[in-house]
Amino acid sequence: MEKIRTDWTLDEVETCYRTPLFPLLFRAQEMHKKFHTPLEIQVCSLISVKTGGCPEDCKYCAQSSRYQTSVKPEAMLSLDQVKERAMQAKDRGVTRVCLGAAWKKVRDGAAFDSVLEMISSLSKEGLEVCCCLGNLNTSQAQKLKNAGLYAYNHNLDTSRAFYPEIITTRTYDERLDTLDIARKADLSVCCGGILGLGESQEDRISFLHTLSTMEKHPDSVPINLLLRVPGTPLADQKPLDFWEMLRSVATARILMPGSFVRLSAGRLGLNLEQQALCFLAGANSLWLGDTLLTVANPTVDQDAYMFELFGLKKKSSHGSN
Ligand code: SF4
Repeated sequence: MEKIRTDWTLDEVETCYRTPLFPLLFRAQEMHKKFHTPLEIQVCSLISVKTGGCPEDCKYCAQSSRYQTSVKPEAMLSLDQVKERAMQAKDRGVTRVCLGAAWKKVRDGAAFDSVLEMISSLSKEGLEVCCCLGNLNTSQAQKLKNAGLYAYNHNLDTSRAFYPEIITTRTYDERLDTLDIARKADLSVCCGGILGLGESQEDRISFLHTLSTMEKHPDSVPINLLLRVPGTPLADQKPLDFWEMLRSVATARILMPGSFVRLSAGRLGLNLEQQALCFLAGANSLWLGDTLLTVANPTVDQDAYMFELFGLKKKSSHGSN
């Protein structure tokens, strides 16, 4: 088995990213076949347990209270509501459920206790539960672990250099600290970013370098494409060239061969041919469900057709990452 490296140099990442497309895809496929079962796709579902009203200023986000978007703050979902949605997702073959809350950080108290209860209840149903709740401290990470949490999502979003153009209310180092806390609590780490924020190719290379030189690679690497949400500062951002997205997926697969590379938000903007290329480049995870938090996703029927067309299979839960 090829060794997983965490000592990539920036030059190596750049050379990989800028490899001519066909050898890049070929190498990515080789790595994919060595580390994963080809055609097997991890299928995840996202449930927004607390939508909107977030105090952060992420310039792409419909849930930030700083921008006038169509998303209004909602009350937290109840355990029964979350359970009902999770079980519907499970019936469709989903093995991982991510519970997201539009919080800057976790605060101890009733809302966090409810999330712990949701985790415990869903993990007893055999689902891998992931949470995306903002910054965490050590004791909260341990409580999440004890409740049965499998993974924690906290994205770096982009390169360290470009990050301050996108978010000013939370630093890159705070994000890295939260990832470290989650890892030390023995939680599987899910960490990726968003492409098309206006970053340069150097930023994408630097972002992939940061992820692939973490002391342990994130087990899941979501690669999102910006969805231009009306009312946010990035509403009129120029769309990213698809080939940059494809290069990013292939490079992530080569640098972090053991990780699940997830086609995330923005998949609705990719046609079937583009999605096929992303799977050829090593993507092996996706979100299933008609909406992702507040934005549209391919419908369940469209995805069922795609799975059939490409001969993809849904991965069963636990054991692989
Ligand atoms: S991305 Fe998350 S932290 Fe940033 S504004 Fe949206 S909900 Fe808040």
